Amino acid sequence: CGVFGIYAPGEDVAKLTYFGLYALQHRGQESAGIATFESEKLYLYKDMGLVSQVFNESILSELKGNLAVGHTRYSTTGSSRVVNAQPAIANSRLGSIAVAHNGNLVNTPQLREEITRRQYSFVTTTDTELIALAIASEVDSGKNWLDACISAFKMCEGAFSLTIGTPAGLMGVRDPHGIRPLVIGTLDTNPTRYVLASETCGLDIIGAEFLREVKPGEIVWITEDGLQSIEWQSQPSRKLCVFEMIYFARPDSQMEGESLYTYRMRIGRVLAKESCVDADLVIGVPDSGIPAAIGFSQESNISYMEGLIKNRYVGRTFIQPTQGMREAGIRMKLNPLKDVLQGKRVIMVDDSIVRGTTSGKIVKALRDAGATEVHMRISSPPVTHPCFYGIDTDNQDQLIAAKKSVAEIAQHIGVDSLAYLSWEGMLQATHEDPQSFCSACFTGQYPIDVPEPIKRSKLM
Ligand code: 5GP
Ligand code: SF4
Ligand code: MG
Repeated sequence: CGVFGIYAPGEDVAKLTYFGLYALQHRGQESAGIATFESEKLYLYKDMGLVSQVFNESILSELKGNLAVGHTRYSTTGSSRVVNAQPAIANSRLGSIAVAHNGNLVNTPQLREEITRRQYSFVTTTDTELIALAIASEVDSGKNWLDACISAFKMCEGAFSLTIGTPAGLMGVRDPHGIRPLVIGTLDTNPTRYVLASETCGLDIIGAEFLREVKPGEIVWITEDGLQSIEWQSQPSRKLCVFEMIYFARPDSQMEGESLYTYRMRIGRVLAKESCVDADLVIGVPDSGIPAAIGFSQESNISYMEGLIKNRYVGRTFIQPTQGMREAGIRMKLNPLKDVLQGKRVIMVDDSIVRGTTSGKIVKALRDAGATEVHMRISSPPVTHPCFYGIDTDNQDQLIAAKKSVAEIAQHIGVDSLAYLSWEGMLQATHEDPQSFCSACFTGQYPIDVPEPIKRSKLM
């Protein structure tokens, strides 16, 4: 999911949020929502669909106020229905609260029990509404916003990067592991108006300056008095999702001090060092495989060409909820360039193989277009384990690398050869401290304990 928040008295906060969400559309395409606060009064609009389908000028003009939070959703908990669209709302003695959530809690059943015990009722099936209700119940027990939020966050286990709107101010928070990203920007050189976004591309689009990321285990509380930083969890231990770097986040977003475009080119070069093969050209699978393909080409001195043209108006196939839709989606999405591929030995670089369905179809399309050899190179290791922290990689039995060896996968998708980036190679190219990343979908080493019943629901 994508989250956004803005505190900017005097600005059209709904419109700025709309543009921010527009830049974060790749993080979720099922529903979109914006909540604004005009002191005590909450305005909310959310619906199924893309940001551009959900909002128009007249809807945005109704969303008045000094601060706003927004969300683009793809469902990891709760079904794909409009009631589950975000921001989630709860009411308290100090007024309404609007919560936009990226991530996934792993203790949802316990939290639901506790909220029920406190006699608060929920209308959705999402963990996000439970967070909103937890905050409301802490406020109702007499705490101020900040203390109530800290108590509520301590009830939550799992991955959560949140933007929260209240009548008193805007909050951004990350879980102690900082699994999902969240950054702070400002609209001014002398900051009084702040912006929060899942990725820096959400700041760029409204001309906000990137200040820094929200730290794992940090709350930023933004009010008329400025920005206050609170370490709400004394022992943060950074575990940023490495898949954000490899695939999920936009290449023009900054993480770890560089654009992900630069990062992905670098892992492409490492991949070439590890597993180059004699060929006539290197192509990338649009869009996510392209930076790594360029890096692969640079390192191997095999020329880079575009071999597949993507229809820009078809969304990410992966994010659509059903396998049937995914299968229909891919045929609309990529078209091979026959005169580039005809008679050529091709190295095709992609960021990952998850189920293997897309890759198999693309390989067939390349061969139909005249490629004589297709060598697939993947700029991440085999995905063998499901994610419990907010990326919808499905159950383990749907992950092709959980069941098949590399040689079997090569045969299944019909390539002449297949190689993945090594896990060591990936981590070395990622950061000087590989421990500061989650890479559980490649290893099964989950940095936040996943309770057995939840684990069993997704593991083979
Ligand atoms: P597959 O061959 O597994 O069906 O599809 C692989 C393609 O799906 C890759 O191009 C990758 O960019 C894309 N993809 C879609 N969703 C995801 C996801 O959640 N994680 C990853 N890593 N890749 C995904
Ligand atoms: Fe990211 Fe994989 Fe960890 Fe999930 S399991 S948070 S996708 S690295
Ligand atoms: Mg891709």
